[in-house]
Amino acid sequence: MNAPSSLIDPARRRLVAALAGTGVAAALPGWAAPRATRTRRGPLGVALIGLGGYSRDLLAPALQMTRHCRLAGIVTGTPAKAEEWQRRYAIPDRNVYDYEGFARIADNPNIDVVYVVLPNHLHKRFTVEAAAAGKHVWCEKPMAMDAGEAREMIDACRRHRVQLTIGYRLQHEPNTRAWSELAKSRPFGRLLRVKADAGFNGFRNNPGDAWRLDPARGGGAMYDMGVYSLNAARYTTGREPLAVTARQEILRPEIFRGVDETMRFRLEFPEGVVADCVTSFGMDLNTLRAECEAGWYQLSPFQTYDGIKGEASDGRRFDATLGPKPAMQALQMDQDALAIIEGRPPRVPGEEGLRDMRVLDAIFASARADGKRVQIDQD
Ligand code: NAD
Repeated sequence: MNAPSSLIDPARRRLVAALAGTGVAAALPGWAAPRATRTRRGPLGVALIGLGGYSRDLLAPALQMTRHCRLAGIVTGTPAKAEEWQRRYAIPDRNVYDYEGFARIADNPNIDVVYVVLPNHLHKRFTVEAAAAGKHVWCEKPMAMDAGEAREMIDACRRHRVQLTIGYRLQHEPNTRAWSELAKSRPFGRLLRVKADAGFNGFRNNPGDAWRLDPARGGGAMYDMGVYSLNAARYTTGREPLAVTARQEILRPEIFRGVDETMRFRLEFPEGVVADCVTSFGMDLNTLRAECEAGWYQLSPFQTYDGIKGEASDGRRFDATLGPKPAMQALQMDQDALAIIEGRPPRVPGEEGLRDMRVLDAIFASARADGKRVQIDQD
């Protein structure tokens, strides 16, 4: 189903304006130029793998708004879903795959990128398989189950000379971009403390077979919402944390078996800066705050699909508007597609996902050890 053009055009105009300021990212260590030499011109063909809520409600509609990429293919285990998607988005049979036959995608010149939108335990497997098929990979957050998997994914993409990009949509959002700049310009003097809280009050009714509650499939609040707090703490400080203390809480043990309902963690950064973070499946939380020697700044909400906004103690506001959802995902995918087309590193490469996975490993280790302080592996 295509959105009416009256809806698309203003959003498209805003996207073009946002893209205009993209600039060329600095070369990253270890980043290999993509092997893919496209003979075809025009937007990149994207295949979504995993047609659940995020693909259905955000990514597929966003791909109707993008200029540099388009929804070309799907990978699903459910034939009925495939039919429905093919009808809605005019996807030809030759661009439809199931999980078992996925490797055949290597022979399809109309697919340039595979976007992995599966439960977390499947991110590594399909990233590695997509890379082996010679496709660039966009992978949803959290990148993987642990840092070891993240490294394997980076290695596979490097070996096959395809780009690996993590779907941290907020890093493309204009207010978050402006916010992250403050880590460098420091208008309020030295940063002292960050607070980053991300959560929602969910799973109240019968949760059924929810993979988000299954430890084997990467369930729990930390993997799902905690990465927003963690990633935000890193882009707020512009530094890497040195150590962490973490504690998990479970108020509804009948629902949360072997996964965290709430995780509270403190990250220790260089120069005594701390980030206190809470993430939860039992509380609505959506605030990012930085306290400095001579003032403060805050985004609330900071991780919604639209309407991210904030203010600072000097009266400045974070009030850029991208337009309603899914404009943020459209901007993200257009910027990531341009990086491939122009042969330059993406804004959020696999290495950025790996940095979070290293911290996640330390958070889980600390929580398992009743809040013992755990050092975080550095590069
Ligand atoms: P979902 O449960 O709605 O969809 C998951 C899909 O995977 C379904 O189509 C399901 O059929 C398929 N699947 C294949 N193998 C499966 C298995 N073994 N168990 C369960 N499902 C299986 O999930 P979602 O909300 O679309 O999330 C998918 C990914 O996208 C996750 O990694 C999640 O963290 C990420 N996500 C990111 C954002 C964001 O804002 N960046 C938002 C939502 C989800």
